[in-house]
Amino acid sequence: MTGYTRYSCQDIDDDDIEAVVRVLRSGTITQGPVAGELQDRLAAYCGAACGVAVASGTAALHASMAAIGVGPGDVVWTSPLSFVASANCARYVGARVEFVDVDLADGNMDLNALEARLVDAEAMGALPRVVVPVHFAGRALDMPRLSTLAARFGFDVVEDAAHALGASYADGSPVGSCRHSRATIFSFHPVKTITTAEGGMVMTNDRALAETIARFATHGITRDERRFVLPSAPYHYEQLELGFHYRMSELHAALGLSQAAKINRFVKRRREIARRYGSELEGLPLLRPPADERSAWHLYVVRTAPSGCPATRDEIFRALRARSIGVNVHYQPIPGQPYYRALGHRPELFPRALEFSTTALSLPIHTRLSPADQSFVVQSLREILA
Ligand SMILES: *Cc1c(COP(=O)(O)O)cnc(C)c1O
Repeated sequence: MTGYTRYSCQDIDDDDIEAVVRVLRSGTITQGPVAGELQDRLAAYCGAACGVAVASGTAALHASMAAIGVGPGDVVWTSPLSFVASANCARYVGARVEFVDVDLADGNMDLNALEARLVDAEAMGALPRVVVPVHFAGRALDMPRLSTLAARFGFDVVEDAAHALGASYADGSPVGSCRHSRATIFSFHPVKTITTAEGGMVMTNDRALAETIARFATHGITRDERRFVLPSAPYHYEQLELGFHYRMSELHAALGLSQAAKINRFVKRRREIARRYGSELEGLPLLRPPADERSAWHLYVVRTAPSGCPATRDEIFRALRARSIGVNVHYQPIPGQPYYRALGHRPELFPRALEFSTTALSLPIHTRLSPADQSFVVQSLREILA
């Protein structure tokens, strides 16, 4: 296989495989110590007090909403230019979703648009309970500004950092430190910075929230006697609320723990690839993403320029796919999905997300993309756009 055939893919070595095999031989394949070690490791990496390992990034979002107490009657605001999970988490708990348009320059939520919407919402008594920003493509949003708005208008922030493990904010603190938010979620799907096959984590500095999330991920059950309502017995456990089964197995956690040692190396390589695209695509009729040495570079999204491009986005997409180059589109706007249309949403209400989506093309970027693979991608684009 060549590295250009997919826009992203996992990077698994023998040491990762051995770590999983060790757990397989250990006798404890779920509810053992390794998930806890992964939590501690990533909490230390991010500078957060707690991490709670769960079955997916989506489960991390769902658990965060539930633990914060979001429910029917509440509204959650997120970006229309994201994976559907960023919005679905609100629906799981019965809340309504609204979207805030993005900045065309980088695909992140437009904080000027957000502020204007908040002023209107306050006047109408319709403020969001939670805002879920998405660090699009691994580039951190201006979190100090968002947290100022959160304090002023009284909402919580849960960062969808599925793209951004290994990134840092403008002030240098790592994404996941939760300095400016109630919680931050990561995904360990194979396309993300590190993988557990399927998996995710919630980071937070709020220990009580972390405990509630951990309980939510295991049916709402506690084995902590201090929390028991009924008289306890040695075999006793109590279900305190309705939770889900969202635990991460020891096999997944072992893979994640082995991968966690490589975050900086993986992100460094992604940054090199982004830098090289940045210089070698210069002069082509494509809009490049802003250079960003703090981004985790989960995606490298170019956009077809409004004029002067000899091919449409879809033509370029097909021509690259015909060369087995695994380009993709991130994302079709969430409000345009049939499920969200049926709830009354319309992508046209988010013209910048729509424009981004119809002009965007994600080029391959991942640690297994060799210099020769990247040359092939660049050369192919030059030929298609000649
Ligand atoms: C991948 C992703 C998720 C969901 O993560 P899973 O682990 O696949 O559940 C959520 N939000 C964004 C922006 C993502 O890219």
